[in-house]
Amino acid sequence: MATEAFAPAKINLTLHVTGQRADGYHLLDSLVVFCDVGDTLSAAPADRLSLRVDGPMAAGVPDDASNLVMRAARFLDLSRGAAMMLTKRLPVASGIGGGSSDAAAALRALSALWDVPLPSPEETLPLGADVPVCMTPRPQRIRGVGARLCPVPDLPTADLVLVNPRLPVPTPAVFGALTRRDRSPMPEELPRWPDAAALAEWLGTMRNDLEAPAIRVQPAIADVLRVLRAEKPLHAAMSGSGATCYALLPAGQGAGLAETLKAAHPGWWVASGAILRDTG
Ligand code: ATP
Repeated sequence: MATEAFAPAKINLTLHVTGQRADGYHLLDSLVVFCDVGDTLSAAPADRLSLRVDGPMAAGVPDDASNLVMRAARFLDLSRGAAMMLTKRLPVASGIGGGSSDAAAALRALSALWDVPLPSPEETLPLGADVPVCMTPRPQRIRGVGARLCPVPDLPTADLVLVNPRLPVPTPAVFGALTRRDRSPMPEELPRWPDAAALAEWLGTMRNDLEAPAIRVQPAIADVLRVLRAEKPLHAAMSGSGATCYALLPAGQGAGLAETLKAAHPGWWVASGAILRDTG
């Protein structure tokens, strides 16, 4: 029986860079959510392991052993086969964790297909710093290099509109341009936000420390933020290392803004969806 798993976009609502380890890994403190926009990974029984990639964002995505989906399959079981199909809808190298979410989806689909236990989030860290958080697509706080996870319950319902200027931004270049000296984390205790407006007000007091360096690497990010903020959402900021930016809106209002932006900026990738609040 074939299995299928959804790989939702991962959005860093905040991203505080709190330090750097001697081995070069940056230490983070980030509020992460997932949005019901994403890639799909299906896996069917087969003698050998294979991957095909299709979908609107498939161009340039490797279908060989370097794809994170193939690496995840080999991580789960070195010897078994499966015919995998990845439908790519998330832009590549865009700060919304597409590859990491695909890897987590592959682990979910293949553990069901092969009837082998799913690794714990922490165990998946060798596949990439963002893979552990993608193992359970629900609001979480991540600290350290990415494996210190803490669920954030009771996040208010809200929509996100995601906008990418279709310009890939390599994460190492953005960390290389980071000069900020404020390394303070988020408050130890996160507040309980009664609604999306309260969450947005709090987000306005937090940071994405990668936003300024990402704009230095790719100035078009500043244009995206200007356009989003002109629409007066509850809040707008960049996700991860960019270039994707998000606008936070009350539940049900994302699709309308997405249509407006698509019409005004046909060259941009624009998507909208609700924040995923359950483990799914
Ligand atoms: P993050 O938010 O975790 O920094 P990202 O969204 O910026 O991630 P990805 O889309 O995961 O970046 O792509 C990063 C690189 O990984 C690309 O250069 C791409 O060639 C490679 N890659 C490997 N597997 C995949 C995959 N399944 N989907 C997308 N990119 C992949």
